Amino acid sequence: MFKKILIANRGEIALRIQRACRELGVRAVMVYSEADRDAKYVRLAEEAVCIGPAASSLSYLNMPAIISAAEVTDAEAIHPGYGFLSENADFAERVEKSGFQFIGPTPDSIRIMGDKVSAKQAMIRAGVPCVPGSEGELPDDPVQIRRIAKSVGYPVIIKAAGGGGGRGMRVVHTEAALINAVAMTKAEAGAAFGNPAVYMEKFLQNPRHIEIQILADSFKNAVYLGERDCSMQRRHQKILEEAPAPGINRKLIERIGERCVTACKKMGYRGAGTFEFLYEAGEFYFIEMNTRVQVEHPVTEMITGVDIVKTQIMVAAGEKLPFTQRQITISGHAIECRINAEDAFKFTPSPGRITTWHAPGGPGVRVDSHIYSNYFVPPYYDSMIGKLIVHGDTREQALARMRTALLETAVEGISTNIPLHRELMVDAKFMAGGTNIHYLEHWLEQHKR
Ligand code: ADP
Repeated sequence: MFKKILIANRGEIALRIQRACRELGVRAVMVYSEADRDAKYVRLAEEAVCIGPAASSLSYLNMPAIISAAEVTDAEAIHPGYGFLSENADFAERVEKSGFQFIGPTPDSIRIMGDKVSAKQAMIRAGVPCVPGSEGELPDDPVQIRRIAKSVGYPVIIKAAGGGGGRGMRVVHTEAALINAVAMTKAEAGAAFGNPAVYMEKFLQNPRHIEIQILADSFKNAVYLGERDCSMQRRHQKILEEAPAPGINRKLIERIGERCVTACKKMGYRGAGTFEFLYEAGEFYFIEMNTRVQVEHPVTEMITGVDIVKTQIMVAAGEKLPFTQRQITISGHAIECRINAEDAFKFTPSPGRITTWHAPGGPGVRVDSHIYSNYFVPPYYDSMIGKLIVHGDTREQALARMRTALLETAVEGISTNIPLHRELMVDAKFMAGGTNIHYLEHWLEQHKR
């Protein structure tokens, strides 16, 4: 096992990884920007290094500063968390070239999965079902583009190969709008992602977002840890997640989980990863793979008892996965609410000083958050300030525990989206389970204030 690792991230995930390090007896070096000097995990750190000013481009995205921080502290490995440099193949490569272990997959795996066209091709080869669409990148010839769209069937969605974060996508309903939409998406993709390549998929009308968590070691062992339902989204951003996914036949999950495991073995994938699918009418369609730990990993930890972050570190250190697929069992139900510093219904960001913070508690309640009373939420980063996770024997019990936890939680001084979560937890359709990816947007439209 490593003696010391550097955590190249901030916020709740920096604290989460620090906690995993303490359990493993590994020293954790924290890095921070000038805006994060007073973060809880910095105060609790055995070692901490300032890597630059508030702007992410100068700190959390500053590769030379992060690598020098690892050099001066004699860290052996770097954990990238999520966001920032976590899916940057060049960063992973520089980390390894500088003599450190990257806690994640190889730069090659990141590169293949980072390009959605090559990711889809790898999945097709590995036997993972994908959304029907163009075989690869769309050609320039309008006649060919029209022919592809016709055979896929309208509506179609044009997606940027280099896209991410819900950007670089355009739905097309008619042939008349097709060529212009492709040109616009290409231009935007070139500007936003430095890669103008686009591809086409059938636009699924009412899917759910279901994803499979996997863990793999360097010895071609891989397991899947069940699924998560992340269909509650606004502008393609998840706001709450749960596991297992209500109402989906376990046999179907097993079948898709096994496909994902086979794909990992074929690719020589190492570390934690998530296969994201759209699920409609009993079928799974792969859309993309995330090659890092996800925000919503705790719901999987709660139902499987597996510590995903600790396992990431262990397999990066060259250890074998400490369990086989048969040892993975699913118990009960877990729900996670993302707590954001924003107006609950208008979604305007609400950074500033938290005057009061009361965390909830009780059986089956977990809080992953770096905030405290008198903490200042900086305006420079993502608005998520923590996650509230509950576990129950049944989905009903988990819902009841989440309602109680949300009732007990108090954040004063800034606005949060807790009022939104409180309403969703008593919404009849959400309570029934199985709402699709458009449900939340429709709900918000109907509950406009
Ligand atoms: P990103 O990397 O930007 O998150 P994804 O490919 O994961 O992009 O897609 C994000 C979201 O866009 C999905 O969760 C879904 O809501 C929607 N989406 C993507 N592809 C399709 C499709 N073929 N049909 C319907 N919705 C889609």
